[in-house]
Amino acid sequence: MRLGDGALVESVLYRGDTLCVSSQVGCAVGCPFCASGANGFGRNLSLDELTGQVERIAALHPIVRATVSGIGEPLHNDRVTRAFVDWCRERKIGPSLTTSGGPVSRLREWLHMHHNGLTISVHSGTEATRARAVPRGPSLIELFEALYAEVPRATASRRKKLALAYLLIEGLNDTDAEIDAFIARVQPLGVMIHLYDHNPVPTSALQGVGGERYAAVYRRMTEAGLRVRMSSRARLEANGGCGTLVAVQRSREGRSLPVVS
Ligand code: SF4
Repeated sequence: MRLGDGALVESVLYRGDTLCVSSQVGCAVGCPFCASGANGFGRNLSLDELTGQVERIAALHPIVRATVSGIGEPLHNDRVTRAFVDWCRERKIGPSLTTSGGPVSRLREWLHMHHNGLTISVHSGTEATRARAVPRGPSLIELFEALYAEVPRATASRRKKLALAYLLIEGLNDTDAEIDAFIARVQPLGVMIHLYDHNPVPTSALQGVGGERYAAVYRRMTEAGLRVRMSSRARLEANGGCGTLVAVQRSREGRSLPVVS
């Protein structure tokens, strides 16, 4: 979608009734596997720009759920994201979000708020890998300190809505040692894990691990007692990587695609 000032964001309809919306133009977190942050941070979206993404698509197609999991870090645009969640709930649209976890003080509040789901991108078991995978997100120590303190205090229904995400990337976070370090951190929490294989994006040379290794990591996590859900098929489509639609459009318009390493 093109915004009033010409900036581009993406909104993705999936499962037939769920819309993934963007909360920022670009992103400051700069994850190397994601095209959304490749051009750095542009600006926050206004509430009208978030609700406009839903209204535009809802005019063509019924929307039952909306997730703030597109371009941008929703906790960096916290006031608007909260207002958007309220707006969705008033319209009986189930709102959820995906965050890299920072600022952690805001995450602590979100862990107790009413929404349809909160997914925290972890993608690592060790600090060295976290610093590479989520460069400007909180460290694992900060993140898990908050989770160990807040998750036991959350109501059972809030805990059910929480998930931690692990996106497998070849050569970055796919060793047994890294997976075991992740398992050790998350075991005490008892929350759902979303395990994704990486979708290549046009701004990065990073690759996924492929079906065999993906299945082996799934087995390793489930045998350790974790509850794990694997990627949906839609995410694995060629244009399913975060920020790909905007990156392709920018390239069509002759604008350069920076490559994040
Ligand atoms: S994965 Fe999310 S937090 Fe990381 S750069 Fe992309 S939009 Fe930002």
